[in-house]
Amino acid sequence: MRQFHSAISGALVAVALTQLIAANAAEVDAARLHAAPSNNADWLSHGRTYDEQRFSPLARINQTNVGELKLAWFYDFDTTRGQEATPLVIDGAMYVTSAWSKVFALDARTGRELWRFDPKVAGPKAIDACCDVVNRGVAAWGNRVFVGALDGRLIALDRATGAQAWSVQTTDPTKRYTITGAPRVIGGKVIIGNGGGEMGVRGYVSAYDANDGKLLWRFYTVPGNPKDGFDSAVLEKAAKTWHGEWWKYGGGGTVWDSMAYDPQLDLLYIGVGNGSPWNHRIRSNGAGDNLFLSSIVALKPATGEYVWHFQTTPAESWDFTATQHIILADLTIDGRARQVLMQAPKNGFFFVIDRATGEFIHAKNYVNVTWTTGLDPKTGRPGVVPEARYVREPAMVAPGPLGAHNWYPMTFSPQTQLAYIPALETSNYYQHDDAFQFLERTWNTGVVVSRDPANAKSVADAAKSKGGAMLLAWDPVAQREVWRVNYQRAGNGGLLSTAGSLVFQGSVDGMFNAYAADTGVRLWSQDVQNAILGGPVTFELDDEQYVVALAGIGGVALAGSSVGSQSRSEFGRVVAFKLGGKAALPALIATTSRRPPDVRRANAEGDIEVGHRNYTRVCMACHGENASSNTAIPDLRYSNAIVEREAFKAIVIDGVRADKGMVGFGSALSPAEVEEIRAYLVSLAIAL
Ligand code: CA
Repeated sequence: MRQFHSAISGALVAVALTQLIAANAAEVDAARLHAAPSNNADWLSHGRTYDEQRFSPLARINQTNVGELKLAWFYDFDTTRGQEATPLVIDGAMYVTSAWSKVFALDARTGRELWRFDPKVAGPKAIDACCDVVNRGVAAWGNRVFVGALDGRLIALDRATGAQAWSVQTTDPTKRYTITGAPRVIGGKVIIGNGGGEMGVRGYVSAYDANDGKLLWRFYTVPGNPKDGFDSAVLEKAAKTWHGEWWKYGGGGTVWDSMAYDPQLDLLYIGVGNGSPWNHRIRSNGAGDNLFLSSIVALKPATGEYVWHFQTTPAESWDFTATQHIILADLTIDGRARQVLMQAPKNGFFFVIDRATGEFIHAKNYVNVTWTTGLDPKTGRPGVVPEARYVREPAMVAPGPLGAHNWYPMTFSPQTQLAYIPALETSNYYQHDDAFQFLERTWNTGVVVSRDPANAKSVADAAKSKGGAMLLAWDPVAQREVWRVNYQRAGNGGLLSTAGSLVFQGSVDGMFNAYAADTGVRLWSQDVQNAILGGPVTFELDDEQYVVALAGIGGVALAGSSVGSQSRSEFGRVVAFKLGGKAALPALIATTSRRPPDVRRANAEGDIEVGHRNYTRVCMACHGENASSNTAIPDLRYSNAIVEREAFKAIVIDGVRADKGMVGFGSALSPAEVEEIRAYLVSLAIAL
């Protein structure tokens, strides 16, 4: 951005550029989306094709020449915060989103900015985002692109100019819904979900008319209060799997990321999130499977009508979402051709499901898993280790809430017949929260989570999962690991596979890597100065293949030090590579080493243990476990804000930094509690 503004002069050029898009642009319609598998010039939808394989038939860049891959261009965003998007590439233009749901159109050959759109999400909305103010991308249809804004709006933009065509509020603004996921478009219907499972919402997915933003249908993933009547017969049935007064806590089940579509079967698949609150004992009196939490649900895209479901974690109690990437493929299993759906949800099992019927085919754990006694080989229903439910005593359970796999996209290569998983080894402490009460403005999980496992009974060696990140090559037919790359630092990045027999993945330490798809040997690596978390894309223009990724930290999954990422460049950025590229990244600004604040006169009063507890309840989601963060969100142990009582209170209670996304928590914390949190933080700063 900065480097180009000086070189080109303003509006006249912008007009010329947008005219360029208009002249080259063809409508995105059903025929074009269905032909996407053989279209190498574009990346038309979130997972490249409706089956979301994130595999490209391009082989111009391959195992032989990938060493010659060089930077073609880069584009710096206006923020360092929250880069998780998959860019779309259509008719030579790239459409990419950044933090705060901003949309940018770039020339895909040069990175020149064509237009930008800022939906102007209000700063305080950041508090409703469990996992930072991120956005994972746009969808395209006709001459428009569609973005879901953090505050729940679905917005249609003219592809040539970025002008807003329509905007519709898809959520109740009085509730703590957010949108971070990318929409999908099927036959002129824009499909959009939402998030907020930790904030007390009820999940659903909706379809809007791409022409005018009219709501066409809505499918709720969990039943509401039976007194209000049921939204459908299927939800009436689902309600029999719920107990207590779940609707008071929303129930959860948000559809915040993954979807896939099979045009032949005409089925839309959605991945459903965890329960709200997490704790099954609080949410549902400890009884019932709680449909459709943690499930994959197949719907008719024309009407939103339920077709089948498969629940990956019945009676979910650990934040085990099934919102992870869904991939469709045709495989031969036990000598039989199967139309399958694959998912590696947070609970640690790689599931292969018949996508026509929802029938369980097989599953296998891809990381250390301690919460279950194993899956029924016929139904796939897991047995649960009783202690893992943390009913009587706290428990260490693997995986933890970060999951064995989070939102980072997987990929499936039809060439190698392997799935590639950005996997995590995690475990966590779960303790029933005896003092649980539903509170506005905080997380509502019903779980005390802490990194101190001293008094937690480790369920079947959960502590073995100390936290680590791997790229796993996985054979979905044999259900076995074929190769792996272990990363030094935890946290992970999304994946792209190509017919050049390559797998591309960024890492949290700011390297962009290419691996041999068959062996896992690293063939190429480039320092891009910032973590790459999202899925890379590739496309071909003028007989040149480009590989593009977004670099920039973001997301709550990275707030804690154990999975911290590294930011060395000033801003998040798009990096585009091609064979023989000639661009170079700017030199890094030297960073000074962090020094803790002088807390000798801090005089913080209050119980440090209580401060720790309230920190964990209110602050940890963004600032990290044990107040340790090395992302864009400040590490409070190193913050001068903790030195003075009044200055700290002004930030935490009065919200004097609301414009920066740090809103006041006066409704969640009393001044005495804030002082106790300060006492806790000061105790940590002293110990540094
Ligand atoms: Ca969650």
